[in-house]
This record gives sequence, structure tokens and C-alpha cells, in this order.
Amino acid sequence: MASTDGVKIHPAVDNGIKQGNPSFSGGMLTCKCTTNPVKVRVGAQTAHNHVCGCTKCWKPEGAIFSQVAVVSRDAIEVVENGDKLQIVNKDAPIQRYACTGCGVHMYGRIENKDHPFYGLDFVHTELSKEDGWAAPEFAAFVSSIIESGVDPSRMDGIRARLRELGLEPYDALSPPLMDAIATHVAKRSGKLAA
Ligand SMILES: [Zn+2]
Ligand SMILES: [Zn+2]
Repeated sequence: MASTDGVKIHPAVDNGIKQGNPSFSGGMLTCKCTTNPVKVRVGAQTAHNHVCGCTKCWKPEGAIFSQVAVVSRDAIEVVENGDKLQIVNKDAPIQRYACTGCGVHMYGRIENKDHPFYGLDFVHTELSKEDGWAAPEFAAFVSSIIESGVDPSRMDGIRARLRELGLEPYDALSPPLMDAIATHVAKRSGKLAA
């Protein structure tokens, strides 16, 4: 078995997973600017929290995975310094609102109503000081970390470490989310009753 010694995933999970609080109902995300930080209120607990290896999600300095969760778009409210936010790529399916001062992504939004995840915004709850956010449940797009420059020879150790943490590694999304996407597609095409 591959050694997991010293394998770092993300600061929020490297010392073990902190369990969420079922009665938690949201908190404030703050960007990393020391003056005039952007503040975004998330008015609900998040779902499907996970670590993500894709090249698009914002990651803290030095981390090879991001940590990202979803919440209803109605729960997101920009409360301070929203003028510093800019969309990273307007053509991407997820429009990620990044702070022009520090580069942190405050939330990602889907505007295409036909997208399977329309209505959900993507957030990084590590930007909040509050405790109780839903714990990460799995690892998505694990193979994609190679695209960021991780040597392929490290993958066995990284997948072993993810399993050790209880974050089952997938090279796309988790089976429930992949099933949700396929169900959406089948309902649109008429293969399944809408
Ligand atoms: Zn900032
Ligand atoms: Zn990602």
C-alpha cells in the first residue's frame, strides 16, 4: 500500500475531518484582503461539501485540492465590498465571483437554467470563522490534480490518504451527483418521465 506520510490534501482536512452541526444555519464568508474585505452571507447550511481536484476551483496557497460545497442561490447575499468582485470567466458554466484584491472566489453561480445544478451556488466555507458547516464527504476530480502539476507517481499515496480521511476519491463527482446529472439529462430528452 502507498505511504500516506506527509501527504497534504487541504488545510481543512489534513488534521482530520471536523463534523458538521445539523442545526447550523449559515455564516459569513470573508475574503483574505486585510482592508475592505468582501463579505458574503450564506443564510443556510451547505450540502455536498467535498474536496475538489479540478483546476477551476479556488484553492488556498499550497493546497492541491479545494474544498467546496453547494447552497441554494437564494441563501447568498453580498453584504460588503461587492464592488471588488469580478467574474473569473463569463463563458464557464459556473461563474465564479473572485475578489480582485486577493483572488479568493467568494461564490460560483450557474446562470444557465438548463444546467443540472441550476439554483445552487458553490462556496468555500473555510472562508468563514463559524463552526458547524457540513463536513466534506468525498473527493471529486482527483485525477485532475495532475493537470495542476502533481506528479502522477504520487497518486496512489494521495488516493490512499483521501480514503484514510474517509473522503472516497472519484475522478468525476460522487455517484449521487453523477446520477442527478444523468437523471436531469434523461428527463430533458424524454427517456425518463419528467
Ligand atoms: Zn479580497
Ligand atoms: Zn473544482
